[in-house]
Amino acid sequence: MDIINILPDSVANQIAAGEVVDRPASAVKELLENAMDAGATQIDLVVKDAGRTLIQVVDNGCGMSDSDARLCFERHATSKIHKSDDLFAIRTMGFRGEALASIAAIAQVELRTRQHDSELGTCLRIEGSQITSQEPAACPTGTSMAVKNLFFNVPARRNFLKKDSVEFSHIEEVFRRITLIHYDIAFTLNSNGRLLYDLKAGSLLQRISQLYGNPYKERFFAVEEETDIVKIKGFVGKPEFSRKTRGEQYLFVNGRFIKHPALSAAVEKAYADLLPEHSYPSYFIGLQVDPARIDVNIHPTKTEVKFIDDHALFAILRSAVKKALGQFTLATELSFDTPPEFNIPPAPKGYMPPAPRISYNPDYNPFRSTPAQTHLHLEKEIKETKDTNDFNNLYYLEGPKDITSPITHPLPTSTCLQVQNRYIVTSLSSGIAIIDQQRAHERILFERIQNSESRTLNSQTLLFPVNCQFSPADADLFNELLPDLRSYGFAVAPLSQCTFVITATPADLKEEDLQSCFDQMLADYKGSTMEKFSNRSQSLCASLARQMAIRPGKVLSQEEMQQLVADLFACPMADIAPSGKKIITIVKPEELLK
Ligand code: ADP
Ligand code: MG
Repeated sequence: MDIINILPDSVANQIAAGEVVDRPASAVKELLENAMDAGATQIDLVVKDAGRTLIQVVDNGCGMSDSDARLCFERHATSKIHKSDDLFAIRTMGFRGEALASIAAIAQVELRTRQHDSELGTCLRIEGSQITSQEPAACPTGTSMAVKNLFFNVPARRNFLKKDSVEFSHIEEVFRRITLIHYDIAFTLNSNGRLLYDLKAGSLLQRISQLYGNPYKERFFAVEEETDIVKIKGFVGKPEFSRKTRGEQYLFVNGRFIKHPALSAAVEKAYADLLPEHSYPSYFIGLQVDPARIDVNIHPTKTEVKFIDDHALFAILRSAVKKALGQFTLATELSFDTPPEFNIPPAPKGYMPPAPRISYNPDYNPFRSTPAQTHLHLEKEIKETKDTNDFNNLYYLEGPKDITSPITHPLPTSTCLQVQNRYIVTSLSSGIAIIDQQRAHERILFERIQNSESRTLNSQTLLFPVNCQFSPADADLFNELLPDLRSYGFAVAPLSQCTFVITATPADLKEEDLQSCFDQMLADYKGSTMEKFSNRSQSLCASLARQMAIRPGKVLSQEEMQQLVADLFACPMADIAPSGKKIITIVKPEELLK
């Protein structure tokens, strides 16, 4: 019995669609790219409900003939390449001829298009790969592609979509990746009837500031280099504007946004030690290379590329960035070279340095060596500490006899040792504890931020209010989260649609870079990291705690370590960070014996 049959085109297209269009943002990308390939100088994007209900791209490009308007929805229908050799000389954004076929398989599409030399255009409707109508229509030259009810026939996909604010932020990112490098084309973005971006044609720097706000103009150095194998043009962020996350790092090759870890590393390497630890530079760099020397046909979304000359490219890019930074930072270089030993951080406000303590055992008798001796010594110590109100010791008093608790508290006089500027090693009555400093601090901050009783008291007014600026979509999200932020002790007021002024922060917040702290918080909130928390407030607290926590690499003083350990053991779940990661590893005495 024969059981194999060939799938009908509509089904094949629907399967293929999954690779090209997995969410509204990818349809947006394909439509914008088509408009650019058509030679448009003005491109308007309209979305409703984050692209769920409508994605429309209107361009003033070359338009299509009546029969091309039908043909463009066929699979492998493209005007951009003809033979396999053409694959090695690609100058257009598209070439695979599958985007429109995929989109038409999973949405209701209305195409209106007219070529410059025809008087009348055509209007065609297609849904689920079936053309439902085509008629002549009066329309402006160029093309309007309206994609309605995306995934109308693929409920599984539709149900997988995230909430609108999340889907829209993906659309916004796609829009940014395209508009940044095509700064010679004018774009608009309209969402739910609101004009969010109105970008005029201009230079790259103008485009950056149109997208990110005016202050961005001052934050960059220009990078320019021309060699036989590559032409580099772009902007790299001044080291002092580096961020705690890799957010604003954009690399483009031949007008296409790409992800290329090795090239990104080349840029970061050029900064070498100009950057504070665990911060990342912002950059917008465009590369032009001979299309014959790259392969963009690795994945349907074309964000991965392979270069033939990758080693040379790496070196050229690195030295170009280095040169840009060097030219401008010579004068400031000295301040970066301060040896770390002289970098003594100022003591926190109200901190009283503890008086030096000498501990000795007055009962010590070198000729008596019963095990009881140590015990006596400890008991004496407990007695002594009862009289003082030394914070560290309090834990000892309630702690070590509680054998049921899996982790016992640190011994009062335990000194701490910092290993690799990352772990704190200290002695517990149950063994040796190895504590991850970052995760420990995360737990401490999480509890403090969350602790509602102290919230209102716990706000410190900033000497200089800080302005934070977000993209329109992020600003909406930020607005949504304002009540939570206020309850943690932030005083925030909107200044304009996308700018907020922060006048007070939670007292524990030592973070100077509020902008990147909030940026990361929004990124976390949009991402999936949040799903493990039971509610929004908890997930926000966790995100903030993560931003504010000390990083690996931070050198801690003996007092700081002891304070951290003490604070950690005061937390209800001292052994697990809010993110679920383990904070403490204990090496038991039995294991030590071995
Ligand atoms: P590709 O872009 O890979 O060629 P698509 O499925 O995206 O494949 O588009 C198929 C064809 O439809 C394109 O090659 C182009 O000829 C035509 N087309 C699509 N969008 C437009 C547009 N906005 N203006 C003019 N022609 C278009
Ligand atoms: Mg295309």
